[in-house]
Amino acid sequence: MMTRHDALALAGAYFDGGRFFDDLSRRVALRTESDTGSTPPSLDAYLRDELVPRLAPLGFDCDIVANPAPGGGPFLIARRVEGPRLPTVLSYGHGDVVSGQDAQWRDGLTPWALVARGERWYGRGTADNKGQHSIALGALEAVLKARDGRLGYNITWLIEMGEEAASPGLEAVCAQRRHELKADLFIASDGPRVRASRPTLFLGSRGAVNFSLRLKARERAYHSGNWGGVLSNPATELAHAVSTLVDARGRILVDALRPPPIDDALHRAVAGLAIGGDADDPELSADWGEPGLTPAERLVGWNTLEILAMGAGTPQRPVNAIPAEAVVHCQLRFVVGTPWQDLERIVREHLRAHGFAHVEVNVTLSGAATRLDLDNPWVDWAMRSIESSTGQRPDLLPNLAGSLPNDIFARLLRLPTLWVPHSYPACAQHAPHEHLLAPLAREGLLAMTGLYWDLGEAQAPWESGSLAATAR
Ligand SMILES: [Zn+2]
Repeated sequence: MMTRHDALALAGAYFDGGRFFDDLSRRVALRTESDTGSTPPSLDAYLRDELVPRLAPLGFDCDIVANPAPGGGPFLIARRVEGPRLPTVLSYGHGDVVSGQDAQWRDGLTPWALVARGERWYGRGTADNKGQHSIALGALEAVLKARDGRLGYNITWLIEMGEEAASPGLEAVCAQRRHELKADLFIASDGPRVRASRPTLFLGSRGAVNFSLRLKARERAYHSGNWGGVLSNPATELAHAVSTLVDARGRILVDALRPPPIDDALHRAVAGLAIGGDADDPELSADWGEPGLTPAERLVGWNTLEILAMGAGTPQRPVNAIPAEAVVHCQLRFVVGTPWQDLERIVREHLRAHGFAHVEVNVTLSGAATRLDLDNPWVDWAMRSIESSTGQRPDLLPNLAGSLPNDIFARLLRLPTLWVPHSYPACAQHAPHEHLLAPLAREGLLAMTGLYWDLGEAQAPWESGSLAATAR
């Protein structure tokens, strides 16, 4: 019988022998762009020709599920059941990518061929998300080999092919297939580490609500000389309306849109997190955001209200006129505990109370925030597991500052959610020259192998009790 150490060695050999590079090369070569307004055949091919032939020999029952949303890419639900009474882990990834932006890649690089230059492996999807789920699949294979084909638990893979098109149909599929996706724990990989040099564990994500404020004063613009002083200016009014929502230093002024206070556990969890400071990072602004908080607390534990775009008249070519209307597109990024579903009403009432009842408020897009409790036993378990595989204590991020469809897994499927990202902040995700860092991918393989190994050990805190009690 092989040991945990042997499993890690197998994963290392998979990487060092070049097979991980080969697997990722084939996957990057499939042009699975999902954000171009069409669903290319490559979306289906990625599942049918690439992942199913890999998963089926490992004992997975693979089901390619058509998207219930029109124009959405297919899903793969792959289940490996060792025993009906064993606990189950759900893993997730996405095989679609954003547009290649082919013309902007330089120096002989292209989005559709994996090319290694030093530590950087270039190609579309290397970071987001083909490289990340390829790491998890390679780790799983190493554990199966080391354990003679038995994990000690069940595992389900859910792969979607429309994440970059805002995950159409993901929630519907998870609701319809709730029974097949039933699990006890969720582990997935996406997004960047806090810093390249150290593993990260994050437990959820901030949510976001995009909304617009609009003020239409009249049907057309009027000459500012002939009418200035007797006609109201909607741009002036809207600027003042916005100034009642957020102050000149970025502090949110609407009580109901401010998050609950940062508690001790959250404060401690983010105390060691360094924000920014890498070569390609912008310099952090002094005196910006909520006073009295650290940068990590403002980014991870707090809400922000941003102006994304604003318009009135023709900024490229101003004319001497009072504009007919003005618009501001805003976004609230928020943490758990914010009443985001009521945002439209909250903003409307706030504006009315400040004399701006005539400003129109419309929510255009929204997604929930999630955060697994920091004292959930899986958190400490995962921190220890990753540390023992990589020799490094991971950065613990209570939630990603950005957003993910994690509420579907946390709320709809009611799963504790653990995310172990294998990318890093300067990976050029969604841009030309997207890349994966080779040492980070190798370390990620070890981390995932350790996690999949440890899930089959008696210490894993499955809710139904230890594995020994449930199965053996
Ligand atoms: Zn992406």
